[in-house]
Amino acid sequence: MKKASTPNVLRLSRILETEYGKISWYPRRNAIDELVYTILSQHTSDINSERAFENLMTRFDSIEAISNADVIQIEQCIKTAGLHKIKAARIKEVLNIIDTKTGGFDISFLSEMPLEDAKTWLKSLPGIGPKTAAIVLCFSFGMPAMPVDTHIYRVSRRLRLIGPKVSADKAHDLMEKIVPPDEIFSFHMYLIQHGRKVCKALKPRCSDCVVALMCPSRLKPS
Ligand code: SF4
Repeated sequence: MKKASTPNVLRLSRILETEYGKISWYPRRNAIDELVYTILSQHTSDINSERAFENLMTRFDSIEAISNADVIQIEQCIKTAGLHKIKAARIKEVLNIIDTKTGGFDISFLSEMPLEDAKTWLKSLPGIGPKTAAIVLCFSFGMPAMPVDTHIYRVSRRLRLIGPKVSADKAHDLMEKIVPPDEIFSFHMYLIQHGRKVCKALKPRCSDCVVALMCPSRLKPS
């Protein structure tokens, strides 16, 4: 069934595409690597999580080796990601559960499942919420799952794509309803760029914003 999308989303997407350049989906990592990476990326910067992921994958030559490692060995590799004790234990637990459930670490079967079922499967794992599930499904398989990070949450609320009282967890489902499936990946990327460069948390640069005319939250120049 075709989803209803707001005309504003398509217009916003075209304007942001012109501003930031066309972005097309490409598979970033295989799904199990993406899942590990995304656990590392919780509550830290991309630079720190990239570094921790590289350390981890250099120290262990396979996902299976990580799942068999002592938690302390994992901790030592991922210190740059912060919360390393919690993340190390979570990575090991999640990998062990996946191994038990599937007999290995290939979770590509998720791409054959209906979106909601694939999300539910991932969210049944400890510490995996809607954002992590959406990142794995969107980035590894190109499925129409909308990850909502802090930038997307802020920009979407300012643009009134979602209401001011909508929680971050609820925002994933709402955004998926208003963004056409084949625009979800690119719209996600455009909003992140816009949030980082222009619609900043403390001082939004409304006078430089290409979507200001469509934004109910724009600040008037002083
Ligand atoms: S006009 Fe201001 S608040 Fe609205 S999207 Fe642009 S930068 Fe953000």
